[in-house]
Amino acid sequence: MLKVEGLAAYYGDFQALENVSFELPDSGVTALLGANAAGKTTTLRVISGVLPATAGTVTLDGEDITQASSEERVRRGIVQVPEGRKLFGTLTVEENLLLGGFSRRKDGKSRERLDRIYSMLPKLAERRTQLAGSLSGGEQQMCAVGRGLMADPSILMIDEMSLGLAPVIVTQMFGFVKEIAAEGVSVLLVEQHVQHALNAADRATIIEKGVTTHSGTSEEIRNDPKVREAYLGA
Ligand code: ATP
Repeated sequence: MLKVEGLAAYYGDFQALENVSFELPDSGVTALLGANAAGKTTTLRVISGVLPATAGTVTLDGEDITQASSEERVRRGIVQVPEGRKLFGTLTVEENLLLGGFSRRKDGKSRERLDRIYSMLPKLAERRTQLAGSLSGGEQQMCAVGRGLMADPSILMIDEMSLGLAPVIVTQMFGFVKEIAAEGVSVLLVEQHVQHALNAADRATIIEKGVTTHSGTSEEIRNDPKVREAYLGA
């Protein structure tokens, strides 16, 4: 289980996170929800170790990893799929996927993982020799998530997966995320699309101006009057 407690983080003098606390169970989908600039992406960056926490702790299975390098966290199974997909456009789909498995290159299971991803996402198999830059938005997002899976994550954090995708593709992607979670991966979804995210997630945490304000099951969050008023227009 991953636990973050009292996280604070800065960009220069600007405090982006003030007090972020929540837990991720060993599997299932958890959504991190909040308005623009609330600190969702920053929270992922602190968990993945690319931005240091100035206060608070990140604990993985009872061990404090607040000071661990990002490489060490990837080795321990914490993997982030960045917002905007960040694929290498001039490399093929398969080359992008294989790069995702770099941290696990020594275990000899890259081919096995690749085949598994192709069977879960047949569209990617069809496009394996195509340049990533020529894919549609939805296919690029699939490729980015597939690349994250190549690192064999125990925790997969996906930033704004639904951004810019057609509704039918969004539904497919959320279905895929549920499948990944059912295989024992803990998925943390950062989403602005609250309704969609709550439908896909088992649990959710709300963040407002760098502070986590509510955590609970999707049902509890959906029925919370303050959340309804602020995020669901009810
Ligand atoms: P969005 O959905 O708009 O991406 P978010 O909840 O993910 O929002 P963050 O990207 O975490 O928000 O940003 C939190 C705050 O930190 C914002 O005020 C943002 O302007 C600021 N911020 C983010 N990245 C940087 C940076 N590299 N340098 C300076 N300030 C930053």
